[in-house]
Amino acid sequence: MVNPPKLEQYQYDMERCIHCGGCRWVDHIYTPGVRFGVKCPSIARFEFDEYAAYGREEIGLALLKGELDYSPRFIDAVFQCQLCGACDAGCKRNLDLEPLLTLETLRARCVADGQGPLPAHKKVADNIAKTHNRYGSPHKNRPQWLADDIKPAAKADMLYFVGCASSYTATSLAQATARILQASGAEFMLLGGEECCGYPLYATGQVDAFIKQMERNLEALKKSGASTVIVNCAECYKTWRVDYPKVLGKSTADMGFTVMHIVEYVDQQLKDGKIKFKNPVEMKLTYHDSCNLGRLSEPSIYWEGTRGKYGCLEPSKEYRRGTYGIYQPPRDILAAIPGVELVEMYRHHENTWCCGAGGGVRDANKDFALWTAQDRLEEAQDVGAEAIVSACPYCKENFSEAIKNGKEKLKAYDIVELIAQAMKVRGGKR
Ligand code: SF4
Ligand code: SF4
Repeated sequence: MVNPPKLEQYQYDMERCIHCGGCRWVDHIYTPGVRFGVKCPSIARFEFDEYAAYGREEIGLALLKGELDYSPRFIDAVFQCQLCGACDAGCKRNLDLEPLLTLETLRARCVADGQGPLPAHKKVADNIAKTHNRYGSPHKNRPQWLADDIKPAAKADMLYFVGCASSYTATSLAQATARILQASGAEFMLLGGEECCGYPLYATGQVDAFIKQMERNLEALKKSGASTVIVNCAECYKTWRVDYPKVLGKSTADMGFTVMHIVEYVDQQLKDGKIKFKNPVEMKLTYHDSCNLGRLSEPSIYWEGTRGKYGCLEPSKEYRRGTYGIYQPPRDILAAIPGVELVEMYRHHENTWCCGAGGGVRDANKDFALWTAQDRLEEAQDVGAEAIVSACPYCKENFSEAIKNGKEKLKAYDIVELIAQAMKVRGGKR
C-alpha cells in the first residue's frame, strides 16, 4: 500500500515543539565556540525564526488550523531548507518528536495545494518524466560512462545503481566505483535503462511523481533478480533504503532487498583482507558526513498506532535519531590508506553541517547552496585539512564550485577516487 505521510499526522509534534533551539545549535559538548556552533544552514543564513525547524512548525501548525494562508514568504521559508535533518537529530536528543517528517510533509502539502513546486523543481521533474534523469540529457546517453575495461555481468546478485550524477556529470566516479568492485572480485550487473531514483521529487514535495518513479525502479529491480543494490551516491542510498519503504508504509527490513553504499562494501572487504591499499595518498584530509549517508540513512521502521494520555504511543515507537548512520566505515577506509592524515571537523556525525546541495536547494537557490558549502570549507580549513572528502557526488560538486568561487586552497574529493588510487585501479584522484 502506498502510504505517504500527511501533515495532519504531525500536528502533535508541531504543538509540542518547545522552541528550545536544539534543532539549531550543535550539541554543546561538541562545539569549540560560536563560529561553528550552528548546525541548521537555513537559520544561520536567513536568521528569522521561520527559517528554523521550530519556525516552520509554527507556520505548518497555523496552516493546519486555518490561521495562516500561503504567501511568497511562507513558500520561501518552506523551500529554503536542505531537509538535511540536523534539526531532527538535535530535537531527538531530548524529545520524541518528528521535525524532519513534519518539514517533508509541509512541502508535500504546499505542492498538493498548488503552491509548489518551485519552477526549478518543476523543471527537474519534467526532465525526469521525459528523459528519466534530472538533467534532461538523452536517456540513451546514460551508459556512456562505461569504459572498455568495465565489464558488468548480464545477471548478478549485486546491482550497481549508478544514479544520475555519476551517469552524466561525474562519470569518473561511476568508473572508479565499478573498477573498485571489479578489482575486489565482485560480480555486478547494471539496470538496462536505469532511471533517476526519484530523490529530487520526494525532496521537493512532488510525491505523486516520486511514487511513479519509485514503482518503476522497484519493478526494474524485481525483473533484474538482484538482491543487493549498491550505490556510490548518498541521495540514492537514502532514497532506496529509507524513502521507498517509508512511502510504501513498510520497514526497510521488509523490502526484500539490501541497499549498500560502496563505503560499506569496501570497509567489509578491507576488514576481511580481500582489498588491500598498496598505494599511498599523502594528504591531510577531513571527512564530510553527507546528511543522506549519515544521520538520514537509518533504516525506515514502520509504525502504526495511537496516541493516548499524555501523548503516549501505543504501541511504543522506535525513533530514528541519526545515531546509527554510516559514519565509521568511511573513516576506517580513509585511516587505512597509507599516507592519509585524517582530521575531524567540529561538526560531524549527527551534528554534521550540510554541504548545501540537498533538498532541491542547489536547483532553486544556488546562492544559498554555495554559501552553505563555503561555510563548510572554512571549517575544513580551520582544522588544517588540505582536502575535504565526501561520499556523494552532489557534495563534491557543490564543494568544488564553492572552492572555484572562494579563497580556500582546499581540494574536494569523493572517497571512491581515493580508494581507487589506494588500490591502484584506474579512476583514482586527479
Ligand atoms: S523542533 Fe525540537 S529542538 Fe527545535 S525548538 Fe522545537 S522542540 Fe526544540
Ligand atoms: S532540515 Fe536542515 S536546513 Fe532544514 S530546518 Fe532542519 S536543520 Fe535547518
